[in-house]
Amino acid sequence: MTKRPRVAVGGIVHETHSFAETPTTLADFKKQSLHVGADLLETMTGTRSGIGGMIDAAIIRGWDLVPTLYAAAMPSGIVSDEAYQTMLTQLLSTLSNALPIDGLLLALHGAMVTENELDVESDILAKVRDVIDNDSPIVVELDMHGNISSRTTELADVLVAFDTNPHIDPYARGQESTAILESLISNEIHPTTAYVAVPIILAPQATGTSGLPLKAVHDRVAAMEAESYVVCISVMAGFAYADTPFTGTSIIVTTDDRPDLARDYAQELADIFLQNYGHALPDFLSPDQAVQQALALTGKPIILVDSADNIGGGTPGDGTDALKAMLAHDVQEGTVVLADAEAVNTCWEVGINKTVTLAVGAKTDKWHGSPITVTGIVKTLSEGIFECELPDNHFAAFYGNTIKMGRSAWLRVQGVNIILTTHKTPPFDLAQLRGIGLIPEEQKMIAVKSAVAYRAAYLPIAAHIIEMDTAGLCSANLSRFPYRHVDSERLKGDKNDAH
Ligand SMILES: [Zn+2]
Repeated sequence: MTKRPRVAVGGIVHETHSFAETPTTLADFKKQSLHVGADLLETMTGTRSGIGGMIDAAIIRGWDLVPTLYAAAMPSGIVSDEAYQTMLTQLLSTLSNALPIDGLLLALHGAMVTENELDVESDILAKVRDVIDNDSPIVVELDMHGNISSRTTELADVLVAFDTNPHIDPYARGQESTAILESLISNEIHPTTAYVAVPIILAPQATGTSGLPLKAVHDRVAAMEAESYVVCISVMAGFAYADTPFTGTSIIVTTDDRPDLARDYAQELADIFLQNYGHALPDFLSPDQAVQQALALTGKPIILVDSADNIGGGTPGDGTDALKAMLAHDVQEGTVVLADAEAVNTCWEVGINKTVTLAVGAKTDKWHGSPITVTGIVKTLSEGIFECELPDNHFAAFYGNTIKMGRSAWLRVQGVNIILTTHKTPPFDLAQLRGIGLIPEEQKMIAVKSAVAYRAAYLPIAAHIIEMDTAGLCSANLSRFPYRHVDSERLKGDKNDAH
């Protein structure tokens, strides 16, 4: 390479739950991450996010890096067109001002849906291509929960998805994206991509990469990627609750100018997936049975998995099933986190060490149980800002390492600790509990509103894990949802209707 490459960087990240009742607005992006121009580099450089990995790897190479727009919001309902068009316009105008460029690095999710657009990632890529108006290469990092259309694979030069769930490698995949862009800019490789849509829609509970079917696929991917002419392989688990025509699992293989090999490998990986599919979901206990079993077990903490109220999948995070069961069984040192801004305000009004009677939880929609009226003591009040203990975790992947859950309160009811937060905040890091004064290792049981991602933080301290069959928008039983756009054959591929 003779001159210093000039490369633009940006992205729009959202995992959209099509059946969540509350739409996602610009304010929701501003709450987490919305940065334009110099602010993007100031905020995201040095974070363990996907875009942070891209930026660090570009800086090491001495590139002339031009920031555009980066936006990421917590998974939630369909994104308003106003929010999408506002962000897209800023991305395109800052990109236009950056021209001419030698390449573009984009961080997207893959499962974003707006009011009028079912294939958001393709829409972004097509409009970006129009602005660039040349053959400058584009490398895109994706969450492995993306539902990818063949059009997306045609519009991007190379797609690089996370290989892990819990997502502990977004930063590394960001670095890899930059390395791939370098070989594209210098014409060292000529990528050709094959795409295979697997006829399955996986519930998120089945998308962990340490279990089947994904582990078997990734074991083979590791061997394939060690071959020099394989540029990148993305195993897209898909996101079941984004209702689009291409929702489901897919395999994307990019080789260096070997189209037949890309096709063969993509098909082989799809076959491995199908051979190992079938026992993908765990057994679920009712919340009552789960709490009883936890009380009978020795050791602590016992993790009760409330995966139907999986905040990382777009739910409100205020489901009360686990709390109800803990109170009914008079659990001592049980912990539940609920997003409930109204209850937080009440606790702040009465103050620390005061007794209060109030209704908590289940105020957002009818999917997550009903509010429970409790009487308890306000133990602590907090502004709800914490620094993650884990360097690589689901928060860091998208937003950086400082998390704001808004004003929060610890309410003690009988022996149960209810952590109330203003903004819904998934259980991706133990600092969430420690920050408010609660010691997770001393809890008998902790309910976590997550499907798989909680494991990075909680498996190291867990005595046991129990999966609960709770009410919620992220139920593993996909037949509960009023789909309009998905391929019904792929939906039938989900053999786990019994749960
Ligand atoms: Zn994901």
